[in-house]
Amino acid sequence: MKRCLECGAERGAEQCPGCGLTAAAAEVLLLRRLLRRTLVFLGGSLLFPYISQIYPPLDVDAMLVFYGVVFFLAIVLAVVIERRTRSHGEVEVLKRIYFGIIPLPWVLAATLFVNGRLDTGKPEFHPAMVVGKFEMKGIVRGSRRLVVPSWRGGHRVERLAADADDFDRFRDGDAIVVGVMPGALGIPWLYGVYRR
Ligand SMILES: [Zn+2]
Repeated sequence: MKRCLECGAERGAEQCPGCGLTAAAAEVLLLRRLLRRTLVFLGGSLLFPYISQIYPPLDVDAMLVFYGVVFFLAIVLAVVIERRTRSHGEVEVLKRIYFGIIPLPWVLAATLFVNGRLDTGKPEFHPAMVVGKFEMKGIVRGSRRLVVPSWRGGHRVERLAADADDFDRFRDGDAIVVGVMPGALGIPWLYGVYRR
């Protein structure tokens, strides 16, 4: 017994008892839906790193690495679903997993946006010294990091998301002050970096 690509109902005959579509029609509809949702996912995948630079959480790299893994798995899933659909294989479970992942980048982007935009707290300032910096080219705006020893327990260093100006004007050994906001949702984020 196979499942209908459109509605997931078990089907034996040519016409689905659930939605009335033929197998060929259901296949076309699923491929279209797959493409539409993949575009929504890719849009969110551009937005999330962008917002993460406007209101960068202190743990921005951990979030981006996590999202990178999710992104990779999602793309693999999309390709497998597309191929199986065309070869009339079983896709019901994979489809549910993939369609469940689609909102994730939008949820992450909205979380960071609300966390920063609605933050009514005051920045806390931590004196620090630049001990390294690195730059990575990326799809959205790339990422530049100033590395300082961490003031948080359980963290060795902080990799601060820096804009191009801050990245250029600070060098190893510079004494700085790091402004950190508490975050409306409790996710601490980088407010600014200043010379001491
Ligand atoms: Zn159906």
